[in-house]
Amino acid sequence: MWKYKGISYTWGPPSPDLLKDGIVLCPKCKKSEATLDKMYGVMPCEDCKARSEGYTDRKRTQHTPEYIKRQQEKYHDDFVQPHIVENGKVKVNPEFVKLYPDKAHMYYTHEEMKRAGMPKLIDYSKKVKANEKAQKERIDEFKSKMIEYKQTGDPTKVEDFLRKL
Ligand SMILES: [Zn+2]
Repeated sequence: MWKYKGISYTWGPPSPDLLKDGIVLCPKCKKSEATLDKMYGVMPCEDCKARSEGYTDRKRTQHTPEYIKRQQEKYHDDFVQPHIVENGKVKVNPEFVKLYPDKAHMYYTHEEMKRAGMPKLIDYSKKVKANEKAQKERIDEFKSKMIEYKQTGDPTKVEDFLRKL
């Protein structure tokens, strides 16, 4: 039985090297006051506990290790999402538009782009979409010419097609 700050513990007292001016020191940093547990005895201080969980201090501010920070910078572009939440509202992420204007039409409606103050993006998206459609049509045409060539053994139509590209 041992008494500390008015509370009785079934264990203790702690070893003398953890006692300084009547204060029980954290066994980890030996600077702050330890956390005392009725069952487990002397435990690390709140700061050390938080640090062992990956936080900076007892306020539990998120601490991001350097190597993860570097990785996030390196792959930042991959993390940029098409939408952001601002004041509880889902909005067009201008950073995403800057990085991937060609993808805008896949993620945003024209109404959304208008609301985001990006009227030019609507026209641009229309062009990209039309382009993709034309491209798809060209590929389909090429495929059908290839099938024809395989069936007939006559390459002239494929050659004509490729020459016109
Ligand atoms: Zn500590």
